[in-house]
Amino acid sequence: MSYKNKQIADTAQVLKSEFDSIKDKPAIMRSTTLKALFDAIKTLPPEERAAYGKEVNELRQELQRWIDGTVAADNTIEALDVTAPYDANTPLEKRPRHLPSEFGSIHPLMDELDHILDIFYRMGFEAVEAREIDDDYHMFGSLNFPEGHPARDDFDTFMTTEKAADGKPLVAPAHTSTMQNRVLKAGKSKLENGEPIAVVVPGRVFRNEDVDARHEHTFYQLEGVYVGKSITVGNLMAVLKTFMTEYYQKDIELKTQPFYFPFTEPSFEFAISCPFCNKEGCHVCGEGWIELLGCGMIHPNVLKEAGIDPTKYTGFAWGVGFMRMAMIKYGIDDIRLFQSGKLEFLRQFS
Ligand SMILES: [Zn+2]
Repeated sequence: MSYKNKQIADTAQVLKSEFDSIKDKPAIMRSTTLKALFDAIKTLPPEERAAYGKEVNELRQELQRWIDGTVAADNTIEALDVTAPYDANTPLEKRPRHLPSEFGSIHPLMDELDHILDIFYRMGFEAVEAREIDDDYHMFGSLNFPEGHPARDDFDTFMTTEKAADGKPLVAPAHTSTMQNRVLKAGKSKLENGEPIAVVVPGRVFRNEDVDARHEHTFYQLEGVYVGKSITVGNLMAVLKTFMTEYYQKDIELKTQPFYFPFTEPSFEFAISCPFCNKEGCHVCGEGWIELLGCGMIHPNVLKEAGIDPTKYTGFAWGVGFMRMAMIKYGIDDIRLFQSGKLEFLRQFS
């Protein structure tokens, strides 16, 4: 590369002649010689600064290319996969190599989550991440499950031997609703300013579950919480219908039936019309409808627990397993595949 400015051309010459003998190549970017060129910018008349600055930058980029070139040339030893099992006496050349990076891709579930969050962002929701370890109060107490309540049995999960401040063991959350109390408390000031609380909470949840093609002990949920003035079941239906229609890119119908959760009243179980067969029945849905999520109007006790007056504000919440949503979308018949690490499965999505 040739430089019009004499000072830059001379410096380039000097740096080039020194380059091969420098051990720490990247250090050349911090050299006083190069810095002097940048410092000179402010001493120039304003009309010359742009052209000069452009050339100094070009030199800087050229130096970076030399550095990158040498680093690449020095990096000819293939990286070993130290996480793969191998005998310590295996000769170096036979030890497991890293797969080339082009084999990697975003995990299909994380890809789905990005897509789902994008839909909710466009609907005015914000996202808050769930926790993977929590306390008894957020898992049960704050959600209207009093001590000894039989509904606690439906959320059989894992506990640590370590105790939380309340003397009870920490729990691996069995649902993303553990975040509801925090989300409501954090959003209280919004309500006072006349804005609604509109939050979705993606998270990993855990159950003491016998694992089979439809059940996993570790899976993903997306919680939704919406609170404002005069919010009704109609708003809940509208939000979920809009979301499902956008997600499956088909006009989706909803069917609800009464259900029971301690933290919502009334509570519903929610089925969507099958996106594949228009309710005629197929191998995905059976009889035209797919049960997908639980939802309801947030129980007044849950609002009160977060310091929100249930006579002034109402709201709804839902929890959906988005692994199941993705299984329906792509016709995946075994939930265990997601966390199997099987490349033949993952590569179909890359
Ligand atoms: Zn169907």
